[in-house]
Amino acid sequence: MTLVLGITGGIASGKSTVSALFEANGAELVDADRIAREVVQQGSPGLRDVVAAFGAAVLSADGSLDRKALGALVFSDRAARTTLEALLHPRILSEVGRRLADARSHRLPLVVLDAALLVEMGLHRHCDRVLVVTAPVEARIARIHRRDGLPAEAAAARIAAQATDAERRAVADHVIDNDAGLDALRAAFAGLWPQFEPLLRP
Ligand code: ATP
Repeated sequence: MTLVLGITGGIASGKSTVSALFEANGAELVDADRIAREVVQQGSPGLRDVVAAFGAAVLSADGSLDRKALGALVFSDRAARTTLEALLHPRILSEVGRRLADARSHRLPLVVLDAALLVEMGLHRHCDRVLVVTAPVEARIARIHRRDGLPAEAAAARIAAQATDAERRAVADHVIDNDAGLDALRAAFAGLWPQFEPLLRP
């Protein structure tokens, strides 16, 4: 039996840090955000569709997707975001489904599905349990600024484009409030891990 744990949270909530802790302890990681990048890699049908919809202005000089240009476009224009999602979400859903089916067929005991848009895309319905990582909006804006150099206004626009913590909490079986430092986050993981660790015992 495979247990699929969906891990989600708003941008810069800390969900990838938590997913990495599960992976370091033996869980299999399916990273939906990485899959989202793979479906638009150079030469892919996904990238071809994106260029057909938005024009060559979303390409870098080397022909790869200019993620910054595309991000600036879709986070300032709701209709453009809807178009992009209609092009890419079915591809992402099908690849995530394929990887979860693969994990189940190999009887892997614990799979974590790390997905920013778990709730928005309905992926939580493919999970046995859902862990939501929350953090105050101000802390997230500061982390986005530190990590990506985005100004506060742009960070806030990205946060506003996602589900709210309340919407995510509504489907959560477990919640980690990541409102202190990284040591506190690791301690919160350690508090939760005993509920999963027995799955990995032979
Ligand atoms: P995204 O949706 O943007 O991929 P995420 O939710 O996966 O983000 P992480 O990548 O885990 O979030 O964390 C975002 C950034 O904030 C990282 O640089 C991480 O090291 C940092 N960070 C996470 N939690 C904390 C914390 N409690 N204190 C300080 N920094 C933190």
